[in-house]
Amino acid sequence: MALKEPDPHVLVVAGTDSSGGAGIARDVETLSAFGVRACLAVTAVTAQTDQLVGWIETMPAPLVESQMRAALAGGQVGAIKLGMLASPEAVSAVCRVLRDQPDLPVIADTVLVSSSGRRLMAGDATSAYELLYPLATLLTPNLPELAALIGCDSALDDNQAALQARQLIERGARAVLVKGGHATGKEAVDQLVQPSGISRHAAPRLKASMRGTGCMLASAIAASLALGRDLPTSVSQAKVYVLRQLDARQNPM
Ligand code: PLP
Repeated sequence: MALKEPDPHVLVVAGTDSSGGAGIARDVETLSAFGVRACLAVTAVTAQTDQLVGWIETMPAPLVESQMRAALAGGQVGAIKLGMLASPEAVSAVCRVLRDQPDLPVIADTVLVSSSGRRLMAGDATSAYELLYPLATLLTPNLPELAALIGCDSALDDNQAALQARQLIERGARAVLVKGGHATGKEAVDQLVQPSGISRHAAPRLKASMRGTGCMLASAIAASLALGRDLPTSVSQAKVYVLRQLDARQNPM
């Protein structure tokens, strides 16, 4: 009998975006570019365009938990990617499942607000996410999300951003990739902050703007981890992937 090929999957726990700009459509597109398959737990269905989020229908937390457990029962999940979780109840349900999966890498994109300005998380996001900190391998906040999670103003430079990320580590996070996309300057610097130190991932700041880059980056890291690479390598590869997508948008063929 032929040996079964390894077929790593990433379990995506996230919301849909009818425009395809962000959310599950972006996640699946990214995973497939890495040759990794997706299984799903849908947390919310949204009707949105690039300009506005018109409707958010949040899935019941027990349904989110049930989808996750069913996906994990297949036995092929190599990493979990969390996107829009939509409600504190869903965050608690996700945490219940993660406590039963201590060996799986978990990338949590702390989705709070859409680019068009609509809140994507109901209730008290800060307390809800605190439950998740010790269970996630990596959190990937942008500067406004990081500030909201620790309750202060958005960082004005890389040093401040690193100090804010350290505060998440003090509150129990295992690693934080703070994204510099919302900053200014010639370079976009993402900083990987861990208890052991900080590594910087700098890239030229491109003019192109694109929705869903946070979803892409977190999914690309999860794909790379599911393929067995370590965290710093996965972050570097993911950053190269996102830059290529932005560059293709800036310089269409
Ligand atoms: N909608 C959904 C379902 C998302 O998951 C996200 C981000 O993860 C967004 C919207 C926000 O994306 P953007 O910042 O590109 O608007």
